[in-house]
Amino acid sequence: MTKQAALDLLLGKIKESKSFHLALALIHWDAMVTGVPTKSYAARGAAEGWLSMETFKRMMAPETLEAIETLEAHDSELTETERAMTRIAGRTYRKAKAIPPEELGAFRALVSESNQVWEKAREKRDYEMMLPYYEKIVTYQRKLCDLYGYEKHPYDALLDDYEIGANVEMLDGFFAALRKEIVPLLKDITNSGGEAEEITGKFAIEKQKELMPWLTDFTGYDRTRGKVGEVEHPFCLTINRNDVRITTKYHEDNLLSSIYSIIHECGHGIYEQNMSEELEPYALADCASMGMHESQSRLYENMIGRSRTFAERLLPNLQEKFDFFKNWDTDTLYRAVNIARPSLIRIEADELTYSLHIMVRYELEKSLIEGNIKAANLPTLWADKYEEFLGIRPQNLAEGVLQDVHWSAGLFGYFPSYAVGTAYGAQMMNTIRTKAGIDVDAAIKKEDLTPITNWLRENIHSQGSIHLPNDLLKRATGETFNPQYYVNYLKEKFTGIYLKSTVNS
Ligand code: ZN
Repeated sequence: MTKQAALDLLLGKIKESKSFHLALALIHWDAMVTGVPTKSYAARGAAEGWLSMETFKRMMAPETLEAIETLEAHDSELTETERAMTRIAGRTYRKAKAIPPEELGAFRALVSESNQVWEKAREKRDYEMMLPYYEKIVTYQRKLCDLYGYEKHPYDALLDDYEIGANVEMLDGFFAALRKEIVPLLKDITNSGGEAEEITGKFAIEKQKELMPWLTDFTGYDRTRGKVGEVEHPFCLTINRNDVRITTKYHEDNLLSSIYSIIHECGHGIYEQNMSEELEPYALADCASMGMHESQSRLYENMIGRSRTFAERLLPNLQEKFDFFKNWDTDTLYRAVNIARPSLIRIEADELTYSLHIMVRYELEKSLIEGNIKAANLPTLWADKYEEFLGIRPQNLAEGVLQDVHWSAGLFGYFPSYAVGTAYGAQMMNTIRTKAGIDVDAAIKKEDLTPITNWLRENIHSQGSIHLPNDLLKRATGETFNPQYYVNYLKEKFTGIYLKSTVNS
C-alpha cells in the first residue's frame, strides 16, 4: 500500500464512521431528550445495535491496520494532523484487538448482569449479593492490564484507557498533595463551623427556566449551534461542531442544581464548538482526553461560576425572580454556592471535597489491582478511608461502597480523570491570570468572558486531539501537569471564605 492509498483509506473510514456517529447520536438524543413511545424500544435497539456493530467492524477491518502500519512507516513524511490521526487510529485499533473476542463477550455479559444485581444490592444494602461480581470483575480488569501491557504498574494500563498518559506515579503525586493540604484544610473549616446560608424552599421551575438564556449567553455557549434539552441526568452531546447540544434538569427544591449543571454543560459544549474545522476530516476535532473535557466544564462551573464576582452578577437575577433572595448580599450568596462540608455521596460533593471522594476510589482500585486487598473487605476499607479523608463514616452500603455504578459496570481507572481534569483547569486558569495577563474578574463583571474563552479556544479547544493531554498542557501553560496550582487555588479560595481571620493575620 502506498502512503497516499493509506491516507485515502483511513480518511474514507473516518468519513464513514462520522455518518454512523451522527445517526447514533441522533437516536440517543431522540430517546433521552425528545422522548419516544416505549413500544418502539425493541426496533430502535436493534437498529442501534446494527449501526454500532457495523461501524466497529468497518474500522477494525484488516486493511485499516495495513493503512496504519504504512503511515507509521512513513512517519517523517507526515504532517502534524496526519501523524496525530495515525497515532489515534493505531491506539484505538490495537486496544480493541488486544482483547480476545470471546473474553470480551463473556465480560460484556458479566457486567450486564452485574449492573442489574448492583441496583438490587444497593436497594437491599446487601453486599454479599454483589461480592461475586466484584471479584470476577477485578480478576478480569487485572487480566486486561496484561493484555493492554504496561511499563511500571499494572493499574497504569487501565488509567491510560481513560486519561491518556496518566499513571500511578503521576496520580500518587497528585493525591499526596491533596492529602497533605486539602484534608487538613477541610478539618479546619469543619472545626471553625464552616457556616453558610442554605438555599431552601421551592423555586418555580418556569422561573428557573427563564435564567437559562442568561446563563448560556454568559458562558459564551452558542445556542445557534446547538440546543438545550431537559433530561434526568444532564449531559452534552456532539452531533458535530456546529450542532453541540447540552441538557439540564430543573428541580423545584434545588435551585443551584440547574444553574450549575447548565454552566457545567456549557463548558463541555464550548470546548466542542471551538474545535478547529480543519481537524474534522481527521477525526481530530475531538477532546484530547476525558480529563481535558472535564477541565473545561469545571473551569466554567467552579472557577468562574462559583467565583465571588459571578455571585455578584447572579444575585440581581435571582432577586428579580425569587423573593427568597430579597435580603441577601453578594457574600451570603458566594458562601451559599461554596458550601464546604464533608459528605458521603460523590455526585453531591462540593468543590473542596470532590477530589477527596475520588481519592478514596483511586486508592481502593489501585490496591485491588495490586492484589493487596480483597473485594470482600471493601465495605470496611471504604468506610475507613472516608473517615480518614473526610472525617465521616457511611452508615449503610447505599451511602458507602455501593453508591457508584462504575465498578459493577467494569469501569476501573475511570474515576481519577474527573479529579485530574479539575486540576488541569486550575493550571490553565493560573496561566490565564498570570502569563496571559487576563483580568478574569473584570471579564465576569462585564458579563463578557471573551478574553478567557479566546485564550482557551486558541490554546486548548481548537487543538482538538492533535496533542496528548500532557503535551497540550505544556504548550498552553509552559509546564506539564502540576497539581500544586489546584491545591493553591482551593486553599486560597476556601481559606478566604471560611478562615478569613487566619488569612488577614
Ligand atoms: Zn462533566
